[in-house]
Amino acid sequence: MHKMKKLIKILFVIIGIVLILIIIGIGYFYVAFNNYNFEDTHELTEDNLVYFNNSYEDARKDFRSKSDELLEKYNGTKRFQLPVQSKIDTDLTIDFCYIPGSENADKILILSSGVHGVEGYVGSAIQLFFMENYINNEFLNKTSILLIHSVNPYGFKYDRRVTENNVDINRNSAIDKKLYQIVNEGYPKVYDLINPKGEVETGSFENRFFFVNAIKEIAKKSMPVLRQAIVQGQYRFPDGLFYGGNDFEPQIKDLVQIIDTICDPYQTIFSIDLHTGYGERGKIHLFPNPVEDPIKKRMETIFEGYQIDWGDSDDFYTVTGDFIDYIGKINHDKTFIPMTFEYGTMNSQTTIGSIKSLHIMILENQGEQYGFLSDEDSQKVKNDFIKMYYPVSDAWKSHIIDETKILFDNSLKRFSELEL
Ligand SMILES: [Zn+2]
Repeated sequence: MHKMKKLIKILFVIIGIVLILIIIGIGYFYVAFNNYNFEDTHELTEDNLVYFNNSYEDARKDFRSKSDELLEKYNGTKRFQLPVQSKIDTDLTIDFCYIPGSENADKILILSSGVHGVEGYVGSAIQLFFMENYINNEFLNKTSILLIHSVNPYGFKYDRRVTENNVDINRNSAIDKKLYQIVNEGYPKVYDLINPKGEVETGSFENRFFFVNAIKEIAKKSMPVLRQAIVQGQYRFPDGLFYGGNDFEPQIKDLVQIIDTICDPYQTIFSIDLHTGYGERGKIHLFPNPVEDPIKKRMETIFEGYQIDWGDSDDFYTVTGDFIDYIGKINHDKTFIPMTFEYGTMNSQTTIGSIKSLHIMILENQGEQYGFLSDEDSQKVKNDFIKMYYPVSDAWKSHIIDETKILFDNSLKRFSELEL
């Protein structure tokens, strides 16, 4: 009897300790989740900031005037626009600048931005930086260049990742409508978690403790499985996150001809698509599409010294209907080198960072679908959303230009000198 009492006592102590640990854990996550912030300590170079514009219109204006400068300088340069239809805006364009190389040029470099509209702030800055510093006769001797500015101008202008139809261009890009038949089997199981209904109230219990539900789902399904289900892309729920549409978005239909015509003379295409928001803050992550061995070797040569995320890590996920894959399909008979640059902002490689990023996307989409409880809620959500893709910090902006310089200095030269 005495022994029994002792056992019960020990049991209570253990339960007590476990409870305290759980409360400490939740408390820790609560504070980390609700005060998620960054101090960027990188050294600031003022000159690096000139490439950044705070609106779609200003970014486009700079892109056009830089294109005009190149047009003056290099024979055969073409600058043109593709209007993108919209129900609310008659001034949305994708802008192009094509600089043909010398007669020996058998390669073309494509640098595209703003596939995810709001990521266009950074993408456009990187393009302007490239146009000012990397286009010269030596490079053009072997390589032509095509710049595509703001593939999703609606999203850029109105600070959304997606188009006016709530479509993620990086899940919609295809030359064959079969894409829209693809079933993402995991998505219905995460639908409720990532697509809550009703007006957004940022201070609600569900939102403050969102991480609890997220961690429960991670524990149930594992992070890779959960991430795959969420971000793969889905073609069934038009109001949901990562919706890829049920038809070609207008620009995806129109771009085929333009890209096909421009790439026609070239045997090798190196396509870089610029994104932000994923990965370690201030770092450029290299995400290639899956490629076969000879091309893989070439990419390792081009990006020697860099970590390329080939998809063998837990952080990896695959998507359907991405823009780079689409450019590759248009050029299926060529040597195609596909690469996505992701400029990290939220440390989404960490659990808390990825939950925070997802939550910001959820609230933004929920607000778009159902509205906000108050102006403050709307402001907070929109602010968090833009900051995730375009950090306010000048130190961050300056730093990524420095990082891009090192990356371009190495990789572009190696691409241009690559013997094929
Ligand atoms: Zn993106």
